[in-house]
This record gives sequence, structure tokens and C-alpha cells, in this order.
Amino acid sequence: MRQRIIIAIDGYSSCGKSTLAKQLAKELHYIYADSGAMYRAVTLYFLRNSIQLTAKKQIKEALKDIHISFEFNVDAGKSHIFLNDENVELMIRDMLVSEKVSEVAAIKEIREFAVAQQKKIGQNKGIVMDGRDIGTTVFPHAELKIFMTADITVRVERRFKEMYAVNQNITIEEVRRNLEMRDYIDSNREVSPLRKAKDAIVMDNTSLTMAQQLKLALQWANEKILANNKTTIEKI
Ligand code: C5P
Repeated sequence: MRQRIIIAIDGYSSCGKSTLAKQLAKELHYIYADSGAMYRAVTLYFLRNSIQLTAKKQIKEALKDIHISFEFNVDAGKSHIFLNDENVELMIRDMLVSEKVSEVAAIKEIREFAVAQQKKIGQNKGIVMDGRDIGTTVFPHAELKIFMTADITVRVERRFKEMYAVNQNITIEEVRRNLEMRDYIDSNREVSPLRKAKDAIVMDNTSLTMAQQLKLALQWANEKILANNKTTIEKI
């Protein structure tokens, strides 16, 4: 059997990381894990329970009460995230959560909480995980690391279309402000800021179709899987 690898996909907000990660996982029969959904679920819990982001003790106590899990949803054909046994897949995409999530994700204790779970999900390899620090912190030894980027105007348009489909009150300016704010906070925080890992391959998908980006990523993945098999056989 071919050895399974870990694929880490990082990059700016709304670069299409999760679309690519989902498609890659499907093609390779790997697990797809959305690390951003975990930070969003924690944010939802904090908003609902009015947890102050400056109150360290309150944060630590709150984290003890948060249980996050993923369950495959047959109708949706993908995993949904559960916060203390409640399906919050839709709610975590709300603008209220998007407005707060980067501040929440900058807190050291929250990152430690999420990263520990992410490492566990990937312990058997055969996983594609997307986020901001997957190639640098969560899986620094991932066999394939992709760093995605795209022109900001293209990213705003893509996210606006997605959000407008579920909420017609949203404006394109709001979406742009949110993406720029999140990119700024994510890139400038002290703990695990958004960075390209030294050994990551950059994919700028501004002018790529989904089919083109998948083809490219599959080619990289297959090269890494082959190389990984070779070294495993040589070791035996
Ligand atoms: O991927 P998504 O845009 O849903 O992530 C929401 C937010 O979660 C990001 O803007 C970032 O602040 C945070 N995040 C993070 N580290 C990750 C994934 C997401 O800090 N690995």
C-alpha cells in the first residue's frame, strides 16, 4: 500500500484553500480538516458566553467547557463541525464570527488548545489540513506544503459571492474590510503568525480555474507520495 502523507495548505483569507483542500482529500481518499472552523467555533462560544478576551482565567475556564468534533454529513458530502454536540457549521460562517475570529485566534491559550487537537487528527497521516500555521507549527514535517495567495480584488469578489448567497444584506466593502483586517491580524500576531514555511510551494491562483489548481496540486502530491514511498522502502 502507498504510504500516506500530510498535506498542509496555508495562506491568506479567501484564497480558496478549503476548496482545494477538500478536492485534494477527495481525490486521494484522505481526511479533510478545516482548522479555521475550530477557531470559528471557539469564537462562537466566546460570543455566546460573553467571554472577555483580556480575562486569561476566564478564557482557560471556558476552554475546559468547549468540546469540538467533526462528523461526516452524508447529504452535504463533507464534514460538519460540532460545538458541544451542536452542529454549528452554518453559524460559524456568520459575519459576527468573522469579525471577531482573528482576535480570538491570536490568543496563545486558544492556539495551544486548537493545535493539540489538530495534531491528534493528523497522527495517522492521510490528511489535508488548511489554515494559517499548518506548515509552520501544526505539521512542520508535512511532506507537502502549499502556500496559497491570490489578488485581493479576486479574493473579495469570490468571498462576497459566497456570502451574498446566504445573506443579501452583506456589502462588498464589508467583505473587503473583513479580509484585510483578518490578514493583518493573522500576519502580525505574536504566536504562530501567518507565514509561508520555508519549504512550502507557492500557488497564486488569481488566474487559475479550480480544475487547473487541482491538477497542479495533485501533481505535487503524487510526486511527494512517490518520493515518500521510495524513502520508506529504502529504510526497510
Ligand atoms: O480559514 P478561515 O478563514 O475560516 O479561518 C478563520 C480565522 O481563523 C482566520 O482569519 C484566522 O484568524 C484563524 N485561523 C488561524 N489559524 C489557522 C486557521 C485559522 O489563526 N490555522
